[in-house]
Amino acid sequence: MRQKLVAGNWKMNLTYPEALALVGEIASLAGESGAANAPTVVICPPFPFLHGVGQQLPQASNFHLGAQNCHQKESGAFTGEVSAKMLASVGCEYVILGHSERRQYFREDDELLGQKLKAALAAGLKPIFCVGESLETREADETFSYIGKQLTDGLFHLSNEEFAQVVIAYEPIWAIGTGRTATSAQAQEVHAFIREQIARAYDAQAALDTTILYGGSANAQNAKELFSQPDVDGGLIGGAALKAADFTTIIRSF
Ligand code: PEP
Repeated sequence: MRQKLVAGNWKMNLTYPEALALVGEIASLAGESGAANAPTVVICPPFPFLHGVGQQLPQASNFHLGAQNCHQKESGAFTGEVSAKMLASVGCEYVILGHSERRQYFREDDELLGQKLKAALAAGLKPIFCVGESLETREADETFSYIGKQLTDGLFHLSNEEFAQVVIAYEPIWAIGTGRTATSAQAQEVHAFIREQIARAYDAQAALDTTILYGGSANAQNAKELFSQPDVDGGLIGGAALKAADFTTIIRSF
């Protein structure tokens, strides 16, 4: 079901003691965020910190644990890799897939992402599936066709039941970690487009039910304006998720 959701992507940052300190600070600042209208909050630390951070999450039922990636196979001789089933076994409920950093630096393509999506869903994880255009694509006026293709090739092969488990994150690459946020109008325009594409691929109800997050230099100052847009259901937060006070302000920005 569509929900208000804020996910913090800690990327490859922090040591274990720092990670525990950060989640402890978030827990004490956001502890009372368990109110009925509080958004769902997903904390996505690096793999080695998952279990420990999960243990320290605020008791409020709206806090959940997520991972930043998973392997496409369930188990086997894949040295250094982590399966979706392993993630579920340490308390993960979500997994980020298709982040532009993984598409760019690790050459993850639609075919591989399709396999990862299936593996995540089979393990009972909810994928947070990222799409987003480069600056070059935006300046060439090809944003909509590019995002449309990412959705069609990357996501719309899922069955209705599978797709119902997916959260989509629109993350323009030019806005990630750059301090250059999309305007709320730019975000809304693409989110509305994504919803239209879902209605075409599935049906109008699926479009209404899908949670669509914005990501890209969202912070404590601009979250309220971004989240006020009708098709923006929350945010995937990078840099600002590493500061407990800022992240808590973002959680409270609906
Ligand atoms: C991200 O990496 O998903 C992200 C949105 O990063 P930042 O908020 O730092 O731009």
